[in-house]
Amino acid sequence: VSDATTTIVGPLPVLSFDSRLGSWSEVVPREAGPIGEWQLARAWEIVERLASRNPYYRTRLRLPKERDSEAFRSLPLTTKLDVVADCEQHPPFGSRTTVQARDVRMVVQTSGTSGRGVEVYALDTNDEAAIIRTEAVGFIWAGVENGTRVLLTLPIGMTAAGLWYHGALRALGASVLPVGSYSTDRKVEILARFGADVVIGTPSYVNRLAIACLDAGVDPKGLGVRSVVVAGEAYSPRWAGAIQQAWGATLYEQYGCTERAIAWTCPGGVLKKNGLGVLHFPPESAYCEVIHPETGLPVEHGEEGELVVTPFGTDSSPLVRYATGDRVRWMAPGTCSCRRPIAGLGAGAVQRFDDMLKIRGVNVWPGQFDLAVFGIEGVNDYRGVVGTDGDGSEVVEIRLETGLDARETGSRVVESVRRATGLAVKVSVEPPGTLAKEVPEGFVKIKRWRDERKVR
Ligand SMILES: [Zn+2]
Repeated sequence: VSDATTTIVGPLPVLSFDSRLGSWSEVVPREAGPIGEWQLARAWEIVERLASRNPYYRTRLRLPKERDSEAFRSLPLTTKLDVVADCEQHPPFGSRTTVQARDVRMVVQTSGTSGRGVEVYALDTNDEAAIIRTEAVGFIWAGVENGTRVLLTLPIGMTAAGLWYHGALRALGASVLPVGSYSTDRKVEILARFGADVVIGTPSYVNRLAIACLDAGVDPKGLGVRSVVVAGEAYSPRWAGAIQQAWGATLYEQYGCTERAIAWTCPGGVLKKNGLGVLHFPPESAYCEVIHPETGLPVEHGEEGELVVTPFGTDSSPLVRYATGDRVRWMAPGTCSCRRPIAGLGAGAVQRFDDMLKIRGVNVWPGQFDLAVFGIEGVNDYRGVVGTDGDGSEVVEIRLETGLDARETGSRVVESVRRATGLAVKVSVEPPGTLAKEVPEGFVKIKRWRDERKVR
């Protein structure tokens, strides 16, 4: 871990960055135990303030006597549906939001693709500065500094990711090519003309872009790209290795949600000696818990559960114990090979609880299929469909992409899936590049699995 300090420029005050802690201020303690206590104390300060003054939380929070983490878990969760309902009853920002109109500097909303409505968040100057500092942490770890040329394939719109990435990159002095609203062909043209040090997109989109470059006669390895930064979809170590090869670059990952739980891979990127690394939570951004969804108790190191966040830099539209619906693997402080004393999540492994499939009475996670399918050599990518045949029985079909022998690879995948899930599947094989060309433009999180039973 380097002790080098980075200076943030642009619209933010000059601050110095501690790379080991992922922190912008000297108030953060230096060791894991004290960092956790400091975060918990900040979370309680927020809760106490909201319980006494916030129109939304005043009636919802009843404070216990104790101030430990167990007492904190006794506080109610805030769900997506709670926030959507509050925004609809008290438009546009909800009764949680106490910022005066003249102090609002930014408005973001969730995409609404879940079909359960849109959450709206207003940010004042402090909130904006806080999220930009948090986003900047991972970009610095991925090598962004003054003059770094960055191809940003996320569209800049009302959703948070594109805006916040752009803000952080500009604050660091990067030269951003904001190509999110252009076609893939035009993105390739711009990339070929200007080159880039860093390329940012979803895993499936950076793959599509590499293939589109090759189709246009441009070798992605010849463009000077050092870092590829992805967010929004799960992937396997094998996929990570292949994308590094395709771009001749190091792969980095961010986890982020509009509710301000943000985590980043450390210097050196996603791939560590023994597999995928850790997405670290910058300590000044939030108090994060990972809990068993049924019991509400915290999971152990290496176990999966739901990420629950109480963000710090969100005075304008605060949240207490927001249940993200994201299924993550908790990684305790000090467990990444970088030895940073800050907690995090397993890289490549974030999934939605809504994505669980119940097939022939068995609960299966897309991640189980991912492990089984990508465990077979030569599989580039795949898509799965659960449907119903003429008799009403459930059928599982997998389309996969391989450059190796189609029949041989197909039957190895059938066997691997059967061993992992107990399910019999039909497999069809496509030539390399077919599935990548179906990936849509922009920041659309690809779901490898489609459930066609629901629309019947
Ligand atoms: Zn690390």
